[in-house]
Amino acid sequence: TLSVADKIAFITGAGSGIGRATARKLAAHGAKVCLVDLKDRRSEEVEQQIRDAGGEALFVDTDVGDPERVQKAFQAAAERWGKIDIVFANAGINGTLAPIEEMPPDAWDQTLDTNLKGTFLTVKYAIPYMKQTGGSIIITSSINGNRTFSGFGMTAYSTSKAGQMAFGKMAALELARYRIRVNIICPGAIQTNISESTHPMASLEQIKIPVKYPEGNQPLEHGPGQPEQVADLVLFLASDASRHISGTEIYIDGTESLL
Ligand code: NAD
Repeated sequence: TLSVADKIAFITGAGSGIGRATARKLAAHGAKVCLVDLKDRRSEEVEQQIRDAGGEALFVDTDVGDPERVQKAFQAAAERWGKIDIVFANAGINGTLAPIEEMPPDAWDQTLDTNLKGTFLTVKYAIPYMKQTGGSIIITSSINGNRTFSGFGMTAYSTSKAGQMAFGKMAALELARYRIRVNIICPGAIQTNISESTHPMASLEQIKIPVKYPEGNQPLEHGPGQPEQVADLVLFLASDASRHISGTEIYIDGTESLL
């Protein structure tokens, strides 16, 4: 069944978009949720909303690219609830969009540190809390990891998303012995605040390369998907209904990646 009642879920990027919708969804189905995000008002609002609805939530201000802070976030969740069952490695940024020639190495690092190293650290520090009992890890990659649909300048983003796919599959194989499942979700364009994290460099326009934001063109939806639709998929992957599924990439894009 699609039950996550009394499970403990650790969700990164929980203050906005897909992470926020998933935190609410899992909490509505009885999970206790650790909300991990950078310090901002939105995360505290999500925490309050879940509590007001009768759920349990704990916001921990954490940069997923920082090993010590990720470790401390797991400690905080485990101190509160004693275990971790579900991990949603979802925090991500679009970051700097630039032609390769112009891409500042620091900007490349920032995207890779958040999206890819952040995923590695989240999975790494989850293992001690999950290896006795097993559990479900879900990684948010993107259709960009396989197919660069959304315009030029996204080499760092697409590389990070492809890396998450490779990492997730290897992790599924490695962690099967602990009965920890790892699956990768690949959304197409979803209506969220991610464009706030987008920094196109002027040089992209100067060389007349169009920068298309991932608003998308999804034949099934006639527009971008909604975070709640992704949350439904995460609920399924978090629940025992998906107990024989691990190491899989699941596209949730209204056929966008087939265009
Ligand atoms: P969003 O911007 O609405 O939410 C992302 C959240 O991650 C934000 O709250 C942000 O503060 C947080 N975050 C960013 N850097 C962080 C860091 N270093 N440490 C902790 N938290 C951090 O965007 P979203 O669309 O909900 O993105 C969620 C995931 O979905 C990302 O991995 C993104 O790449 C992926 N994705 C999004 C789309 C889309 O069209 N929206 C498509 C495919 C994949």
